[in-house]
Amino acid sequence: MSDCQTEVVIAGGGLAGCTLAHLLSGAGIRCILINTGKTQLNSITSTTPSRSLAITLASANILASINIWQKLPRLQLGLFNQMHVWDEQSGGEIRFDSTDINEPLLGYIVEQQLLQQQLTDTCAYLPGCNVINAETVTSVINQTDSVVIELGTEDRIQAQLLVAADSNHSPIRKLVGLEYKRHDYQQQAVTCLATSSLPHENVARQRFLPGGPLAFLPTADPSVCGIVWSTDPDHARSLLSMNETQFCSQLEQAFEYRLGNITDCGDRSRFDLFRAHAPEYIHERTVLVGDAAHTVHPLAGQGANLGLLDVAVLAELISQARQQYRNPFSQRVLRHYQRWRKLDNQRMLVFLDALKYLFAADNSLLINLRGYGLNTLNSIPCLKSRIMRHAMGLEGELPRSAMPLPYAEIM
Ligand SMILES: Cc1cc2nc3c(=O)[nH]c(=O)nc-3n(C[C@H](O)[C@H](O)[C@H](O)COP(=O)(O)OP(=O)(O)OC[C@H]3O[C@@H](n4cnc5c(N)ncnc54)[C@H](O)[C@@H]3O)c2cc1C
Repeated sequence: MSDCQTEVVIAGGGLAGCTLAHLLSGAGIRCILINTGKTQLNSITSTTPSRSLAITLASANILASINIWQKLPRLQLGLFNQMHVWDEQSGGEIRFDSTDINEPLLGYIVEQQLLQQQLTDTCAYLPGCNVINAETVTSVINQTDSVVIELGTEDRIQAQLLVAADSNHSPIRKLVGLEYKRHDYQQQAVTCLATSSLPHENVARQRFLPGGPLAFLPTADPSVCGIVWSTDPDHARSLLSMNETQFCSQLEQAFEYRLGNITDCGDRSRFDLFRAHAPEYIHERTVLVGDAAHTVHPLAGQGANLGLLDVAVLAELISQARQQYRNPFSQRVLRHYQRWRKLDNQRMLVFLDALKYLFAADNSLLINLRGYGLNTLNSIPCLKSRIMRHAMGLEGELPRSAMPLPYAEIM
């Protein structure tokens, strides 16, 4: 058994955990990143599951501030400057265009695996940061002025702060007894990369079907889109059991052939969909970030973006306190983090929940109302601009690392 000391222990090497390690290292704060290395993904193949992530400009800025965004191969970075959303049942639709708000684009599409790889590879070389792989935390012991983390190997780490970035299953959250209020949507998302006969023209498209939304996210390849098809579990199971030809045919029909025929769909993966939120993000010297604190429906592509904002805020408050010669890991700093992020996350959870249920309703009054609502909204430019700026992560109180940069600096 060996003991070591550091300032911050981060449990979980996903997008949130690795980004936090980069931000803390950049601020001169020592940390240890512990990752089990196990993925929580439920794939039908043994190969890496594909998941295309919509990334906001705020998140791109955070990743640019740690020099990760610049390292992503430009040829694998999708971007969208328009968005088209329509509802099968009511026929209502709404279109967003970045030129309406004088922006060059609305957001990016990145393969999660690509981004994760870049973050993971570079974490190993961060000054003041050690990475421990394939290890589990078995206990968390709070002491007056530190927290002791015991590992499966019986090694112990003494730190000032423990950050749980260890997924929505968060073993750390359970160890310290923080709650996670979960609501199952009784839906699953089927994801893959689909090739279409017509080009996507950098338009993100989403069609609301009675079973759930079907999104086509434009990748860097003009004929390939990342698919996120949310539907009831029986339908999801059947979509996964089909052969490729049958699946492509279902996909093109469900999407009304808007991108012509689907010629290829690659490996498919399936994910359970639920919403969850921790009523408290802090327990003594442990703090929750990312999916360990909240999980949202993927219909607006916000989950990872919220997690990146969590870690950007936490790192900023810690480093600000240090610069001002205050205790960077005090309850005051942690409470400030919770106040700032919990409110933003709560708003997003409520908004996405309302959208999910509004579009799932099969009551004719609600169907007519949402068709009317979508069409009316589509004709009010100032309201559309507000929605666009919000979805891009450019509204509200932002940490410095998420502030808008000139377009050229992040491309
Ligand atoms: C179908 C689908 C589509 C999505 N689309 C989008 C999108 O377009 N845009 C978007 O922003 N978000 C999207 N999301 C959400 C996004 O993928 C997640 O919010 C994001 O991956 C969460 O990152 P995280 O780092 O918090 O957690 P995770 O990615 O779950 O990473 C947690 C890490 O912790 C590790 N770990 C687990 N237990 C331990 C332990 N005991 N000790 C140490 N390490 C541990 C895991 O192995 C993992 O590496 C989507 C989600 C789904 C399901």
